[in-house]
Amino acid sequence: MSKRDYYEVLGVARDANDQTVKSAYRKLALKYHPDRNPGDAAAEEEFKLAAEAYAIISDPDKRSAYDRFGHAGVSGAAAGGFDPNAFAGFEDIFGNLGDLFGFGDMFGGRRRRGGPQRGADLRYDLEISFEESFTGTETSIQIPREESCETCKGSGAAAGSAPEVCGQCRGTGQLRFQQGFLTVARPCSTCRGSGKVIARPCQACRGAGRVGRERKITAKIPAGIATGQRLRLYGEGEHGTAGGPPGDLYVVVHVQDHDVFHREEDDLFCHLTVSFPTLAMGGTMAVPTMTGDEQIKIPAGTQVGARFKLRGKGMPNVNGRGQGDLYAITRVAVPKKLTKEQKHLLEELAKTMPAETLETSESDEGDKPFFEKVKDIFG
Ligand SMILES: [Zn+2]
Ligand SMILES: [Zn+2]
Repeated sequence: MSKRDYYEVLGVARDANDQTVKSAYRKLALKYHPDRNPGDAAAEEEFKLAAEAYAIISDPDKRSAYDRFGHAGVSGAAAGGFDPNAFAGFEDIFGNLGDLFGFGDMFGGRRRRGGPQRGADLRYDLEISFEESFTGTETSIQIPREESCETCKGSGAAAGSAPEVCGQCRGTGQLRFQQGFLTVARPCSTCRGSGKVIARPCQACRGAGRVGRERKITAKIPAGIATGQRLRLYGEGEHGTAGGPPGDLYVVVHVQDHDVFHREEDDLFCHLTVSFPTLAMGGTMAVPTMTGDEQIKIPAGTQVGARFKLRGKGMPNVNGRGQGDLYAITRVAVPKKLTKEQKHLLEELAKTMPAETLETSESDEGDKPFFEKVKDIFG
């Protein structure tokens, strides 16, 4: 069976722009979302396929590879099934519907008691190093979650038996009481509102139909991910009940601070400590980058707070759109101790400098915290 064309899946023209692609995908995602179609395998397939198509078509690089070579051009990226890395697009889309974790509740009102229920979403907080966020990483995470009991296939009833209709409430899950003129319904206490009772409970899960398990999952963390960004691992949450679909697993990423670099969007900032003679007379300096030192030229007369831009030496963009820049911001190294000779030379130098210049250089903003200063410069 040949794979369906991604443009066809999304229902857009081959030259559709980003906005059209995005809104087409949003419609499909909402239409086929498992919350809206509990237990509907065909809808789930469409949902996954739309996500896969969107992951490719929304990414300029992958899209151009797909345009030129078709599915073969992107087989590594997402053609092997649903790519959790499509989360970037998801966050984008579901982000503005409110908190992702509230998303399931949007359709929650449709669930019937005792009917198929979607498993709960799970959240996992993952801490990674700054270097790992730069290179991307693959990490295996251990999550405790409730899974459907294998022994009873989730029914909670022992082998050879099945849950029976509750005699107390006749399967409605509710008991009605007359209170004055009013009829009040309360959940049935015999079956706890499920409408069914298990006469012979499954031994493995004691009738719950679910068991707690530690599960190891491999998560691919894309390069360029920043603190607070979430990966959605579709279907890796808790198992649903009574044939309901599983929930999703959200991996919330926290990136450790770096000793040298500070990140703003995809750009990196660092200090460059330069001696006064080098600032005044010029020279070459090594600037640290995430991939090793780079030599730069310091022109004569460089001021404290001057910034040097190293193009493309910042963080990779998490959606694969290039790389940020690195800014090295100069500060001056003032020796704490001077030799007799150094002191003498500085005194001689001071005599040659006009008083005004000395005043200006004293009023530099060396006391301000670094990043406040950065704001001054880039603000
Ligand atoms: Zn069981
Ligand atoms: Zn009952």
